[in-house]
Amino acid sequence: MNTEKLSKRLETVANYIKEGSAIADIGSDHAYLPCYAVKKGLAKRAIAGEVVEGPFQSATRQVKSEGLEEVISVRKGSGLEVLEAGEADCITIAGMGGPLIASILEDGKHKLSGKERLILQPNISAIAIREWLLKNGWELIAEEILEEDGKIYEILVAEKGNPHGSYHQLEKELLFGPFLFSEKSPVFIKKWEGELANWRKILMNLEKAAGSEENDQKKKELQKKILHAEEAIQNEKS
Ligand code: SAM
Repeated sequence: MNTEKLSKRLETVANYIKEGSAIADIGSDHAYLPCYAVKKGLAKRAIAGEVVEGPFQSATRQVKSEGLEEVISVRKGSGLEVLEAGEADCITIAGMGGPLIASILEDGKHKLSGKERLILQPNISAIAIREWLLKNGWELIAEEILEEDGKIYEILVAEKGNPHGSYHQLEKELLFGPFLFSEKSPVFIKKWEGELANWRKILMNLEKAAGSEENDQKKKELQKKILHAEEAIQNEKS
C-alpha cells in the first residue's frame, strides 16, 4: 500500500469522501488516506491526527516526502482533540475496534458541528458504533462490507439526521447493520457464519461450566444472537 494505491479497505473509505471536503483522519498512522485523498482531489485539505509518537512521526515524514505540508496538517493528540470545532467536514476513523471508535466520538462530540460526514471502519464490533450513532442523532446513510487478505471489514457512513431512519428491525439491525442486513452479500453471509460457529462453541462451553447467574445471563444473550444470525443466514439460503 502507498499513497497512490490504497488497500481495498481504505480505498472503500475514500470512496465516501465528498469531493472538495476538508477531512480529518483520526488514527492516521502513515497518513496514507489523507495523502491519497488530497492527491486525488477528494479533499481540498486534511488533518492527520495520531496519538502515538511512532505513527505520528511516520505520518509527518510521509506528508513531508510528498510535499503536502501546505495542505495536510499532521497533529499529535487523542481523537478529536486535535481539531477545532467545525474545522473538518468529513471525519474518517479506520482500522480500530468499534468500541474505541465509539469512545473517540463520545469524548470528542463537543468538536462536532453536526455538518460533518463520518466515515467509520471498525475492525470488530461495529454494533458499538451503530449504538453511539443512534444515541447521538446521527443517521447511518450507507454501509459496506468487504474481504481483504482473509479479513472482513465493515464501513459505516453517517450524517446528522434521523437516527432511526435506516432501521426496520432495530435490535437485529444494530448487530448486522441495516444496509448490510438487507443486502446480504456473500461476504456478509461468510462473516456471520464465522461468528455463529464461534458463538455456538462459546455456548457449548458455558453449558458445560457450573451454573451461575452471570453464566445464565451470558447464555441467554448468546442464544438470542445465535437465533438472529441463524435467521439472517437462513433467509438468504432458503
Ligand atoms: N487508520 C489507519 C488505517 O486504517 O490503516 C491506521 C490504523 S492503525 C491500526 C490505528 C491507529 O490509530 C494507530 O496508529 C494508533 O496509534 C491510532 N490511535 C489509536 N487510538 C487513537 C486515538 N484515541 N487518537 C488518535 N489515534 C489513535
